[in-house]
Amino acid sequence: MKCIKCKKNNGVILIKSLGRKACRNCFKKIVFKRFSKSITNNKLIGKKEKVLVIIKNSNDCVLFYLLCLLAEKHKGLTVYSNKNKVAGLKNLNQENLTDISIRVLTGFFKGRKDLLKVRHSPLELLSDDDLMTYAGLTGLTYEPLVREGFSEDVHELIKNLEKVRSGLSYSIKGLIEDLT
Ligand SMILES: [Zn+2]
Repeated sequence: MKCIKCKKNNGVILIKSLGRKACRNCFKKIVFKRFSKSITNNKLIGKKEKVLVIIKNSNDCVLFYLLCLLAEKHKGLTVYSNKNKVAGLKNLNQENLTDISIRVLTGFFKGRKDLLKVRHSPLELLSDDDLMTYAGLTGLTYEPLVREGFSEDVHELIKNLEKVRSGLSYSIKGLIEDLT
């Protein structure tokens, strides 16, 4: 199967939400495009803003990396990690698509309205799997968070449902946006 985007190279990476494969290079482009789209569509970051990425683990380095790529395009944008102490920085929601779908479903099951709030994030269109593959291609590390207790059960449920209905996480995220 040829790559879904360039249609020249062989498709080697499955894009679950589309059920099609892309070549390595195009996969990286698709990830960056989804990342930029989340930021633009939700007006998360201005082109001349100073943004803080809180680095708690190696996963957060992937967000930092993507933001630095964006800053190469928008010269006014400055990105800091929490190792630097600078005043007046914007904090971002760092949840990815998997985190968001787990949070929202947990909110439904437990009747917790606070979990059902729409909180946009630059990674909201990228799942654990997308980010893991992307990290592997860019020399970074991304390990899915170990979820515990009820979150773990919800995560298992989502993974099983994704097998029969790919793109389900997007639907869960979209559902909450439509309802609120
Ligand atoms: Zn390609």
